[in-house]
Amino acid sequence: MKMTQISDNCYAVLNEKNRVCDANSGLINRAGGVVIDTQSDLAHARQMIEMFSKVWPAMPQRVINTHEDADHVWGNQLFEGAEIIAHRSVPERMKQVADPKEFQKMLHGVGSLLKRVVLKMLHPGIEAAGEQLLEDYNFDGIELALPTTLFDTRYELDLDGTEVHLIYVGPCHQVGDTIIHVPKERVVFAGDVLFRQCTPMGWTGSFEKWFQCLDLISELDPDVIVPGHGPLCGIEGVTEMKAYLQYIRDESKRCFDAGLTSLEAAKRIEFGPYAEWRAPARLYMNVERAYREFRNEPPDASWDSPATFDAIYRVAKAKGIEVEF
Ligand SMILES: [Zn+2]
Repeated sequence: MKMTQISDNCYAVLNEKNRVCDANSGLINRAGGVVIDTQSDLAHARQMIEMFSKVWPAMPQRVINTHEDADHVWGNQLFEGAEIIAHRSVPERMKQVADPKEFQKMLHGVGSLLKRVVLKMLHPGIEAAGEQLLEDYNFDGIELALPTTLFDTRYELDLDGTEVHLIYVGPCHQVGDTIIHVPKERVVFAGDVLFRQCTPMGWTGSFEKWFQCLDLISELDPDVIVPGHGPLCGIEGVTEMKAYLQYIRDESKRCFDAGLTSLEAAKRIEFGPYAEWRAPARLYMNVERAYREFRNEPPDASWDSPATFDAIYRVAKAKGIEVEF
């Protein structure tokens, strides 16, 4: 984990492995401080707070959650008394998709040898994902701290003369997707609408909505973008991400028309220029999302998580690459 200053008053804390849960955080160091996203477990959140404390005088008074996923909200509880701002959908969605008990159960299962053997037979993907997470994370002690200030389409903060715009762009990767624009400093904190050099994992939303959001970020013309996952970038990161999603959607359509299942398609579609991105087999999720659209299913259809991780595992095995999430 490292902290980088990206403009006069904006900082980013970047996780460097860029695997699942390795999310980035931001700080706008004005008017009491605003933290953007709070990491995946308490140890990472404390490390982030420690890093940011080098540039802000006290605990920040505000937290923004870019969306509801666990890896962006599980440090919230450490910001006692802070105003937590997010899209109106986020509190309910957090209860649905970021229940810490589910994750605690999974890691305790992987930690026990007997349960692990059984799990490996039933759900090799979940077992492998659990093992990977155990290398870096411990979900004990996490309790949901829900957002306290909710907005619908747009929310603006005036930090002693520095405007901060929260723009709702979901659902493209998740229901609550929000980007944070600091126009004066030409910075965008993109949350998970942008993955950089690691394969995007989209849950709820449509490709079209995602393209619109990426176009919007380009129009804002920032100098620096902090992705939800992966290293800092400029507009080139947005262009690459859009090209990736277009490539996957086009390839998925060919496979769909040929009658393949989404798993067969994910095994067959070449990684192409994206083979070097972290966890390339996560492409399965993007193929499955495309299939849902081709079948006219609602963008908020739920995911069977064990089946999804198993499918990513099988794609990696079929392609002879390291299993990574
Ligand atoms: Zn994330």
